[in-house]
Amino acid sequence: MECEARDVIIMGTGPAGYTAAIYMGRANLKPLVIEGYQPGGQLMITTEIENFPGFPEGIRGPELMARMRQQAAKFDAEFVNGSVTEVDLSRNPFCISLEDGRELFTRSLIVATGANAKWLGIESEDRYRGKGVSACATCDGFFFRDSQVFVVGGGDTAMEEALYLTKFASHVTLVHRREEFRSSKIMSLRVSKNPKISMMLNEVVDEILGDGIKVTGIRLKNVKSGELSEHPCDGVFMAIGHAPNAALFQGQLDLDDYGYIKTKKSSTETTVQGVFACGDVQDYTYRQAVTAVGTGCMAAVDAERFLESIR
Ligand SMILES: Cc1cc2nc3c(=O)[nH]c(=O)nc-3n(C[C@H](O)[C@H](O)[C@H](O)COP(=O)(O)OP(=O)(O)OC[C@H]3O[C@@H](n4cnc5c(N)ncnc54)[C@H](O)[C@@H]3O)c2cc1C
Repeated sequence: MECEARDVIIMGTGPAGYTAAIYMGRANLKPLVIEGYQPGGQLMITTEIENFPGFPEGIRGPELMARMRQQAAKFDAEFVNGSVTEVDLSRNPFCISLEDGRELFTRSLIVATGANAKWLGIESEDRYRGKGVSACATCDGFFFRDSQVFVVGGGDTAMEEALYLTKFASHVTLVHRREEFRSSKIMSLRVSKNPKISMMLNEVVDEILGDGIKVTGIRLKNVKSGELSEHPCDGVFMAIGHAPNAALFQGQLDLDDYGYIKTKKSSTETTVQGVFACGDVQDYTYRQAVTAVGTGCMAAVDAERFLESIR
């Protein structure tokens, strides 16, 4: 047990957490950064990132994250393996419990725990994950050259994934459980104009079919008639949204209807003084590396000011 309270603990090592660590480190506050189950965050599973400013030729996700980590380490950020399993924010210093049983204490806490893609939760989806089932067209689209793929979902993410996949696949079928898509007009228009994309509405995934090694098809169920239909395909992409990693804070911080941590307008302050949230865990709208970096910086500045105020 580490009894001495730290100035700041940062939960998460995605773009938001690393940025907060760089700023806190440069402010000489010796941040302790807890890496979580995915050191480097979501960008570790991406290939090329073409929209992060400063890299006109693009940069691979893992390389960008390695550079951010290096920059944080240069300013004396200390990294700890493992995840936080429990927090007690009822009094300051806050108590942070790690999965190995250690308890850490801190005067300020920066939550940068990100978000994850949602899955349908059916067994065949799990069995064929990485063998034709994916939640990331950017990462896996390349493997579906001249293939038939299905995209499941009805929002902008599903549209984006479907459009992106047309660069590789011979045909993309969008499956949605409702009569109408909830995507923006512009995205729906782009999709409807693309000759490589067709749509199947009022259908849900009943089963992902395979030969034990890879996906060979998909079985759909019509929500109106209950009729089952089987379709051959090589890949199924889930695009049904994201879930923020904020369950840990239930009952301690205010969360919105989708489970994202609520922050005050133009600030990273949460409903507990001294606790700040940044990146995808508080951002339902933008969910980009560059916005995570921006709010990571804001959280560090907010935490620094908070620490000043209690000295
Ligand atoms: C496939 C894919 C492609 C993408 N491509 C782009 C792109 O081209 N451009 C772009 O701008 N954005 C892109 N994004 C979005 C971008 O990755 C995210 O917006 C960004 O990573 C969010 O950063 P974050 O720091 O908030 O969280 P994340 O990157 O999600 O990192 C969360 C961190 O929190 C840690 N964590 C979670 N729970 C705990 C816990 N209990 N205790 C301690 N730590 C914990 C995790 O280990 C992880 O290190 C892409 C995302 C995906 C999935």
